[in-house]
Amino acid sequence: MSPRQCDVVVVGAGFGGLYALYELRALGLSVVVLEAGPDVGGTWFWNRYPGARCDVESVDYSYSFSPELEQEWRWTSRYATQPEILSYLRHVAERFDLRRNIQFDTRVTEAHFDDGTFRWTVRTDTGDTISSRFCVMATGCLSTAQVPDLPGKDSYRGNVYHTGTWPGPVGFEGQAVGVIGTGSSGIQVIPQVAAQAEHLYVFQRTPNFSTPANDQPLDPEIVREVKAGYAARRALAQDSPGALPLPRPTIAPDDVDADERYAVMERAWEVGGNSMQVTFKNLLIDQATNDVVAEFMRSKIRQKVKDPATAERLCPKDHPFGSKRVCKDTDYYETFNRPNVTLVDLRSEPIVALHQSGIATTKADYQLNSLVFATGFDAMTGTLLKIDILGRDGTRLVDEWDGGPQTYLGLMVAGFPNLFLVTGPGSPSVLTNMVAAIEQHIRWIARCIDDVDTRGYATIEARREAQVNWVTEANKVAEQTLYTKANSWYIGANVVGKPKVFMPYVGGFDRYRRICEEVTASGYRGFIRSPADADASALAHAAPGGRLPAGDDHGQRPNR
Ligand code: NAP
Repeated sequence: MSPRQCDVVVVGAGFGGLYALYELRALGLSVVVLEAGPDVGGTWFWNRYPGARCDVESVDYSYSFSPELEQEWRWTSRYATQPEILSYLRHVAERFDLRRNIQFDTRVTEAHFDDGTFRWTVRTDTGDTISSRFCVMATGCLSTAQVPDLPGKDSYRGNVYHTGTWPGPVGFEGQAVGVIGTGSSGIQVIPQVAAQAEHLYVFQRTPNFSTPANDQPLDPEIVREVKAGYAARRALAQDSPGALPLPRPTIAPDDVDADERYAVMERAWEVGGNSMQVTFKNLLIDQATNDVVAEFMRSKIRQKVKDPATAERLCPKDHPFGSKRVCKDTDYYETFNRPNVTLVDLRSEPIVALHQSGIATTKADYQLNSLVFATGFDAMTGTLLKIDILGRDGTRLVDEWDGGPQTYLGLMVAGFPNLFLVTGPGSPSVLTNMVAAIEQHIRWIARCIDDVDTRGYATIEARREAQVNWVTEANKVAEQTLYTKANSWYIGANVVGKPKVFMPYVGGFDRYRRICEEVTASGYRGFIRSPADADASALAHAAPGGRLPAGDDHGQRPNR
């Protein structure tokens, strides 16, 4: 059977895939979206553990592409819960009639480029084969759950969960529960489990910094103000390093006396959320500045946690503040004051093995009815590398990235024509408001595809030299910061054997966005478009292998 044909295959139907479909379809392209899950949502579909909530304010963690959508959707709290974000994405899918081009329950297993036809052949675990001119990987940065290979892992007979692949509603009443991991997911799930379980054991390897979310219902008056000024709010975010409308810090700790220094941090603590990260300038560059904020954060933990020994074990001391994702919590530290919660410090009592009924450490044996892995993800590269991606001359992406991911602008990879990454390694992505980063990438990709078609090219790909220069530049910027002082997932440190490369671009969303715009304006500097003579004759002739008729064809019509 000959494969289905379309202009673009988009992999994933989360924030990235949905918006890619919207933009690309509007260009008249035929698009097929392939989604492994049974519904839209991507990361926000699977991370449905109790307490899952966004750590970016809901009015900002939302699409900006449609002013009507902005005005009609009503967020109910400062930080949206996972169910609310999923409802939002379902609404977006309905409102823009996106579902008709999405195939659910379909995992992409292969994407192979053909040098002769300039087409991608995409295969799935459902036996589908689709042939497309372009392929957009909207596969998410945090979509492959990471379960550590602990000794005896398979012998445990209790219930096992991972926060990133949560099965649906789960009850822990009357149970002894273990949670391994104290990152953003662990810090959110732990208070929820503690409220239900008979006893909760928190297995902590590294304590993290967490600021209070100070979540609250959104005041209708504030919502009105935000909606009235949305355009300006979004513009402010576009010109900020984190794609967030936050004020830029202007003072260093030494610019003010001790009382004012403390007051700056106290005010930020009271506001909660991301405020602590914008207290002082150069917070992630200057160690002395960072030490001031880190010590303030530790003092807050010591105030909140009644048992001094437990408080001390919860104090992060091995990495600068903000060099790992700063968590936002609701009652996390207070949870350790509950009589039914025990902190197990894996630095002083490492896990020896899992066994049939629980976990043995070097000091004790913990009997557990349920075990929750809040152990994170094979971030940024894991999902892409699980797909067998073959570029020009049969080059495998997994081999190209053997020593760590290499991209040009986090958007394309040399040797992989017409394959686009959404918020790929080498772009600001996870260091920013992801929705804004996704929108910026999708707009860039849509414009690029449109340019390729309009000018009569068949392919676009990154020049290897441009890619090398970009990777060098991204590494140089990262090395000037304190980010590289932490064993974080940003650097692949959480996955055994993963190359230690700082993956996101740390130079700021505003700067990065301008670079992307300059590249477009320059006629795609650093990219090769072929055939080389296409531009001149493009306007007189139809594009080779050109667009399928758009319409409601589900991408199944034969190519022209
Ligand atoms: P994570 O930040 O990678 O945290 C994983 C945790 O598991 C860490 O505490 C880690 O300890 C621990 N761990 C891993 N392997 C272990 C082992 N073998 N033994 C003991 N402990 C082990 O993962 P995450 O919490 O899922 O968060 C990942 C990212 O997702 C976040 O940084 C954030 O970007 C995003 N996220 C966002 C939200 C939100 O918006 N509120 C919520 C959840 C997640 P070590 O530190 O020692 O490695």
